[in-house]
Parts: sequence; structure tokens; C-alpha cells
Amino acid sequence: MRASFALPVVIGAALLAAAPVSAQTGAAPSLRIYVIDVEGGNATLIVSPTGESLLIDSGNPSNGRDADRVAAAAKDAGLTQIDHFILTHYHADHLGGLPELAPKLPIRHFIDHGPNIDPMGSGAKLEPIYQQLYAKATHTVATPGDRLPIRGVDIRVVASAGQLAKALPGAGAANPYCAAFKPADNNLEDPMSVGVHVTFGRFRAVHLGDLTKNKEFELMCPANRLGTVDVILGAHHGQASSNSPVLVHALRPRVVIMNNGTRKGGEPEVMQTMFSSPGLEDLWQMHFSLLSGQEYTSPGMYIANGVDEQPAALPIAPAAAPQPGGPATPAPAHSGPAYWITVVARQDGTYTVTNARNGFSKTYRLAK
Ligand SMILES: [Zn+2]
Repeated sequence: MRASFALPVVIGAALLAAAPVSAQTGAAPSLRIYVIDVEGGNATLIVSPTGESLLIDSGNPSNGRDADRVAAAAKDAGLTQIDHFILTHYHADHLGGLPELAPKLPIRHFIDHGPNIDPMGSGAKLEPIYQQLYAKATHTVATPGDRLPIRGVDIRVVASAGQLAKALPGAGAANPYCAAFKPADNNLEDPMSVGVHVTFGRFRAVHLGDLTKNKEFELMCPANRLGTVDVILGAHHGQASSNSPVLVHALRPRVVIMNNGTRKGGEPEVMQTMFSSPGLEDLWQMHFSLLSGQEYTSPGMYIANGVDEQPAALPIAPAAAPQPGGPATPAPAHSGPAYWITVVARQDGTYTVTNARNGFSKTYRLAK
């Protein structure tokens, strides 16, 4: 049985949990997003103007490294707890940091797609620990169409357990990229991902977890159910098992923030899809990827973290990528400073993206 997001008990808990508005004193109300470096995993923190928080995934199992990085972002945001946590799916690069994070930062509400469906998957062994954590909090199995009880921000579930949302308000136009779609292989858990669409005033973003190409096609063809967005968050680490033009080109993002690793994601096929996407202004990356080489990479100022062993000269050719849908290349031991990328969005649709490594920042305004 699933709990509904509309349950008064959940909303009441969220209201009680809200931090004071003082964190935003003096500035226009803004939505803050931290895309945190978890070495090719995912941890994305969204903080509402009133200080309510949504953490999407918890990074890799890493002896506390990724949990510390998530906790650092939460501290920077002035949080003392996580109000809502979405586990997109049961892979270790999304669930692995949670056992170490939970003791540092209380999590009030857990949201997932239901039980793990892949007993051989990388996060399967963590499922019992995850169940123990949500047993002590509020737990919701997400259904497409659900809205998270966060005030001032509209966060809707658009994918969960292989089910997809109906067209969002204002969306549903024919998608011109469908005819060229090529199906791809999937593992079992990625297509189950919980995906969300975020609206804050005129600002729109999506985080689709690791939703794979065939699900992208179902979601976006023949009609584009999501419309267009300002920002794509995550992009499945920039891996070629996702990121088909039916999704990326039809969403027309001005900005993509890719949660890739040094050897995971950012391969030529994906970089070509991103850089040829109509209206794309900038591709921000969590790491320089050896799979891009100099030929396909974003300029360094858009990249938050380098490679663990900096070569004297950057090879032009990309390194060979693993097969899409296959096992992920293990994350490196990188335990030094890690930098996040932030988005600060205002209700008028203006947003600023900042690279915490070099302080490089760019503001995107709505075209007049
Ligand atoms: Zn992943």
C-alpha cells in the first residue's frame, strides 16, 4: 500500500520541519540547488525559499567521504535535517552514502519507487539498511503525478517504477525528434528511477535519476509530456544509456549540469547530443571526464572537479567508454577537496550557476 503525498500528516510534518525564513533575509526568495560531487554517483540537494529540503540520492559507499560532502552542502544551506529524501533507484552510486549520512543528518521522509527489483544490482545489499531507516520515519512509494509537500516550489513525480506521468500543464506537443529514436539496452533498476520536475515561478528543471533511453522515449513520444526546461540536473552521469535526443533536444535546456565521474559519463555520443541540443548555452560538469578527452569536453571553467592524477598534457582523443547499461567503472579513491555546482533560481526565471572550485558564475535571464 502506498502513502499519498496529500496525507495531512506528511504536510504537517513538513511545516513543522521548515527552517526559518531568515536564511534568505534581504534577498528575493530563491530556490537553491547543490549538485554535489560524489564521484560519478548522484547527490542533489534542493532547498526551498523557506528552508525546506529535498535530497535526491546520497552518493557512493565511500567510508563516509560522500556522506561528508552531502553534509557539507547541507551545512552550507543552513540545514540541520533533510525533510524529504528521494532514492531514485537501488544502485550503490545513489544509495551507498546513506548509511553514513543518516546518523549525521536526520531524514524525515523517504520516497522511493517501491522495492528493489534487481537482486544482483549494486545496491541490493543495502536495501535492508534502507528499510530500517525509513521504518523510523515517514515513507512514501512515489507514483507519477504525486506532488511533494514543499511550500513555494512545485515538485512533481514524473517517473517511478517504470510508470510515467501524463503530460504536465502546458506540455503535450508533438515531439519532432521521435522518428530518429534508437532503442537501447537497460539494466533492471535504472528504468525504475524516480524522476521529478521542479517548477519555481518561471524556473523549471528536471532530475530524472538514471531513467534510460527506452523510458525517455515512452515519456517524450509521440507527445512531449514535460515541455521545455531551463536546467537538466544530473543527466544519468552523462552516460550513453540515457540522454537520447528525444529527451534532451525536446526539453531544450539552456543549461545541463552533468553528475559525471572521471571515468563515467561524458562520452562522445552524449557530448554530441548535448552540444547539438537546440538552445543549449552551457554544459556544466561535475568532473573532467577521461571519456571526453580534449575533443569533447566542456571548457575547464564549467567543470567543478578535475581528474585524480592530473596528466601533464590533456589527450585530445577520448578514452574508450564502457558498454552502455553495463556495470559502472568503480569510483576513484579521490578523497581531497570536492567542489559542488550550485543553481540559485528566482521566481522571475532568472538563475545563476556557480562553480565552487573557481568561483566562476553565470546568470541566465529570460529572453525579453
Ligand atoms: Zn547512477
